Amino acid sequence: MTGFDLLIRGGLLVDGTGRPGRPADVGVAAGRLTVLAPGEAPRTGGTAEVIDARGRVVSPGFVDVHTHSDGVTLLGPSGGGSGRALVRASVLQGVTTEICGNCGSGLFPALPERLPAMRAEARIAFGGDVGMYADFAGFAAAHARVPRANHLASLVGHGTLRAGVLGPVDRPARPDELRTMCALLDASLSQGAAGLSTGLIYTPGSYAGTDEVVALAAVAARHGKPYVTHLRDEMSRVEEALEEAIEISRRSGAALHVSHHKTAGRYAWGRTERTLPRIAALRAEGMDVTCDVYPYTAGSTALAAMLPPWANDGGLGALTARLGDPAERDRMRRAIAEGVPGWENTVGNGGWDRISVACAPRHPQAEGRTIADLAASAGADPLDVAADLLVAEAGEVTIISHSMVEEDVRRVLAAPYTMIGSDGVPKPGGRPHPRWAGTFPRVLGRYVRELGLLRLEEAVHKMTGMAAARFGLTGRGVIRDGAHADLVVFDPAAVADLATFTEPLLPPTGIDVVVAGGQVVVRDGEETGARPGSVLAL
Ligand SMILES: [Zn+2]
Repeated sequence: MTGFDLLIRGGLLVDGTGRPGRPADVGVAAGRLTVLAPGEAPRTGGTAEVIDARGRVVSPGFVDVHTHSDGVTLLGPSGGGSGRALVRASVLQGVTTEICGNCGSGLFPALPERLPAMRAEARIAFGGDVGMYADFAGFAAAHARVPRANHLASLVGHGTLRAGVLGPVDRPARPDELRTMCALLDASLSQGAAGLSTGLIYTPGSYAGTDEVVALAAVAARHGKPYVTHLRDEMSRVEEALEEAIEISRRSGAALHVSHHKTAGRYAWGRTERTLPRIAALRAEGMDVTCDVYPYTAGSTALAAMLPPWANDGGLGALTARLGDPAERDRMRRAIAEGVPGWENTVGNGGWDRISVACAPRHPQAEGRTIADLAASAGADPLDVAADLLVAEAGEVTIISHSMVEEDVRRVLAAPYTMIGSDGVPKPGGRPHPRWAGTFPRVLGRYVRELGLLRLEEAVHKMTGMAAARFGLTGRGVIRDGAHADLVVFDPAAVADLATFTEPLLPPTGIDVVVAGGQVVVRDGEETGARPGSVLAL
């Protein structure tokens, strides 16, 4: 009973399984947990630190199942003034494991001869030199050299894999290329990557047909790992896109996980009344299908993704060349006005007045303003404003898209198979979406305490045990004897997000203590400087 490194005493234990909370103490020794009856542990006797958790909830560390944090810690000092604020935002909201490599995009794998060109594109996409790696082992080794507070796991991104074999080209993969993609995927999954992700609205992933993804998802299925997808359409054709994902899962045998489920754009508002019952019916039939969500009605992505897929054929260089040609701009304008079969067309579903600039490093004066507003000020056409901005920023501009309604967000959050993923895109500069700093406290504060949409235990389960089970995080996501010592101590009466669209990295309130790998990484809402995090090979 003696010899704990840490004893958390007097809290309400919400153990991550969804069961009702109960009073218990939690001891930590050598990175593992022991659950104790209240007062069972001695008051002294070798315990290095005692945390008084009276009036607080003690839960497993949160698992952020959907991040784009692949490169943020690799930026190091080149991350600039906002670098440290970006890196710490995740752990300050209680996240002890981030899962990156989502939406088909990551920093591996690729054939060696493609690595230099992809490194150059990644430098632009991540806002600094983050590298590009042949496989998961190379990615993990690069991260292992940079101390971190929490843990990181990664999916294999299909778009990166495709670019790593074919290059960023708009054509089907040849059979030999598909075999090479399967082999690279198989190697990274064997090394510990968490599953396969796609981003079928984004080039170059969008250039793939269903059969290509089925062949790759079958490789994930052989490893018992999930197929995780940003659907080909989350707007007017979201139901067809969901059916494609279901087909991919059925034909490949891989479990299906739908990323950041939403029905966005005015033509799709309310459509969660159809997609969620469809998913529930599949689950009732025994199909293994889940999803995640972030608790905001705005999304965030690349400005280039507002353009038709052919505009991005050939990569960023080809895109900026096309944007310099007035005839090509007119083709893009027409495509947005008329639509292109199989293309989501965010602007056509909403309008430039719903798209605001989040990050344009050379044009900070544009950040926070909508494209429609910038166009009105300049007396110019919105497509030209977007095109000029993309050219001046070498193709890399992040936007925020106010595309959803609250009722849909609430329905997805409340579904019993939905877990929580921030979809955070931490890159230096600008005003990123506040979800990277606010997602988990926002669910606990707004949707549990204020609105009563979820019970506290349900919400914690979505953030912990459910997520760990989906992604194979063995021994995490639950508090029980012998589990890994990843914990959060929070105040259920005060927990709240403070990050906003104007102040997107403000830390939350009410997240008092975060423990990762048995060490206190956050105390009184501040980083301690401990860096026990690791890259998890699953
Ligand atoms: Zn996505």
